[in-house]
Amino acid sequence: MLKATGIAKSFAGNEILRGISLEVERGELISIIGPSGCGKSTFLRCLNFLEHPDAGEVRVEDVTVASTGSWRRADEVQAHRLRSHVGMVFQSFNLFPHRTVLENVMLAPMQVKRMSETQAKHVACELLEKVGLAAVKNRYPDRLSGGQQQRAAIARALAMKPSVMLYDEPTSALDPELSEEVLSVMRALDAEGMTQLVVTHDMRFARAASDRVLFMEAGQIVESGDPDVMFANPREAGTRRFLRTLL
Ligand code: ATP
Ligand code: MG
Repeated sequence: MLKATGIAKSFAGNEILRGISLEVERGELISIIGPSGCGKSTFLRCLNFLEHPDAGEVRVEDVTVASTGSWRRADEVQAHRLRSHVGMVFQSFNLFPHRTVLENVMLAPMQVKRMSETQAKHVACELLEKVGLAAVKNRYPDRLSGGQQQRAAIARALAMKPSVMLYDEPTSALDPELSEEVLSVMRALDAEGMTQLVVTHDMRFARAASDRVLFMEAGQIVESGDPDVMFANPREAGTRRFLRTLL
């Protein structure tokens, strides 16, 4: 359902992504791990063209966007179509501060999908119920805990009915018990069959919840596979080194 081929990206002559290819099956939960600076965030951003790769191609559902180096208006239109299938959640919740939680979740469906206010409210309330925020839906983001804000950000992304969710360190800014609230929402989405790609430093979650783990180093996927196998018995020296630094 998502296929990336040969994604390459340099910044100021430094090769940050060295031709990454990845195929994601529907319903998979994939964790991406690796040392700081290896290109995890850049890769995630390239998957929905928040960052334009220098080369490579991404397909999500029936939309394919190829990067040829020269980005044209037509490519942006296509990237926009692709993004409509992709929900993204960042480390720093990024809610609109002057909107209530409910309004945050209603906004994109109304503005982008031209959904009626009544319908958008219905969808938003359902999603806020699902992520456990029904009781605080009329609050402003600064009246919520970090874990609540992140769950609101997830509900907001889900409101666009994405076929895949991308998360960049969704729990890094949170205390353990607040992280757990967010992770359990992700587990519940997994159980419903949502396709999810998560950059995470939470090795316990990566091991326990993922269908597949990707280890990235220096702009490449060096090793990928079943989490139990990789954590118990990493094949590559780089993976072993990285996992050892976490002990
Ligand atoms: P972390 O675990 O710390 O979040 P990461 O694996 O997500 O790291 P990236 O944020 O993708 O790493 O960054 C990879 C490299 O690319 C880093 O050296 C970073 O400095 C560089 N980089 C990222 N974005 C830019 C940019 N917009 N301009 C220049 N360099 C960038
Ligand atoms: Mg990062």
